[in-house]
Amino acid sequence: MPVIADNIRKILERIEQAAAKSGRDPKAVELVAVTKTVGADQALEAVLAGMVSLGESRVQEARDKYSVIGPRARWHLIGPLQTNKAKYCPGLFHLIHSVDRMELFRELARQAARKGSVVHCLLQVNLSGEKQKSGCRAEDAERIVKEAALLEGVRIQGLMTVPPYSDDPEESRPYFRELCQLAGRLDALGVENVTMDRISAGMTNDFEVAVEEGATIVRVGSAIFGERL
Ligand SMILES: *Cc1c(COP(=O)(O)O)cnc(C)c1O
Repeated sequence: MPVIADNIRKILERIEQAAAKSGRDPKAVELVAVTKTVGADQALEAVLAGMVSLGESRVQEARDKYSVIGPRARWHLIGPLQTNKAKYCPGLFHLIHSVDRMELFRELARQAARKGSVVHCLLQVNLSGEKQKSGCRAEDAERIVKEAALLEGVRIQGLMTVPPYSDDPEESRPYFRELCQLAGRLDALGVENVTMDRISAGMTNDFEVAVEEGATIVRVGSAIFGERL
């Protein structure tokens, strides 16, 4: 079996085991294959191996690969989004995981309205307080969600986080747990136009722990395509 297809199969198995361990339905976990820095040919190989969802960190790279692969894949934006790139997002991305400020929600809403479409987003939360990390503070999440909920053209569907990097996946567990608890609290507010069904958490090093803690989307790159150079 070609390497990429084989890697995908192994990850799906590991997701299934992690779900079983925590009494969850593995079908409730979506695998996003992170294709950043990977060629369009390899990304296409993943699609042909059955991957539906591809994740990119940069808008331009996503546009380039979209021109080759097109709507055969659902494109996810997982990296920081500059406000001036929001205009490319409606119609391109199935889900933007990395929205972390009102300015960006407003601009996405404006661009969506221009195209008569809706942009589906996750609110990225920085739970570690690391300065270099994107994401709003947990204590600001409620205010942002309530304010963004009033905008036509954007729909918040859940939360995303990136914990501090560690070789030990157990180090990520408290962050994933906190993210799911925060999503639960926000969901309980019952804000109109907002759902909290999509929890994007977990990468190559810690996706199993994320699944155990309740992630519904895991973002895996190097375990599928190999280490990035
Ligand atoms: C690069 C990246 C990933 C994938 O990382 P791997 O360790 O290669 O699986 C996931 N999420 C985000 C936000 C990323 O930037």
